[in-house]
Amino acid sequence: MEGSKYITFTISKTKRIALIAHDGMKKQLIDWCAQHKEVLQKHFLCGTGTTARLITEYTGLPVKAYNSGPLGGDQQIGAKIVEGDIDLVIFFSDPLEAQPHDPDVKALLRIAQVYDIPMANNKSTADFLITSKYMDEEYDHNVINFQANVMARVESMSK
Ligand code: PGA
Repeated sequence: MEGSKYITFTISKTKRIALIAHDGMKKQLIDWCAQHKEVLQKHFLCGTGTTARLITEYTGLPVKAYNSGPLGGDQQIGAKIVEGDIDLVIFFSDPLEAQPHDPDVKALLRIAQVYDIPMANNKSTADFLITSKYMDEEYDHNVINFQANVMARVESMSK
């Protein structure tokens, strides 16, 4: 409905999946990708620079590489979510290691929430996601209607 607060978007059968792992978690993500290779190869994969290249090297899966995380890769992936170009995020963040780009990591978590993007931050959640029936189906979700949001804000401030 035009002007309503939310708008329905459809995540297609083929998902655009972003893969990210902090250094201490990279081996775990590579092993996870190898374990789920059969499913992952049906989808379009991208990731932060080092993670993407390592996954390709060890599993043979094609992964489009953005910049390295500390150099803005997480922000690039966040921007792709805003533009509607990423459907699902697997992010093995390290809960025991301080990161220089912590603000970027938080920004990515936040923007994934805003756009109702399924996101796994550890292996068990990633296992649940990748085995979900929705991996083989379209999925409709309600996302904030940014046009209506901007119009309402402009209206409330132009008095
Ligand atoms: P990297 O970035 O894949 O380039 O290591 C990941 C991150 O630290 O966010």
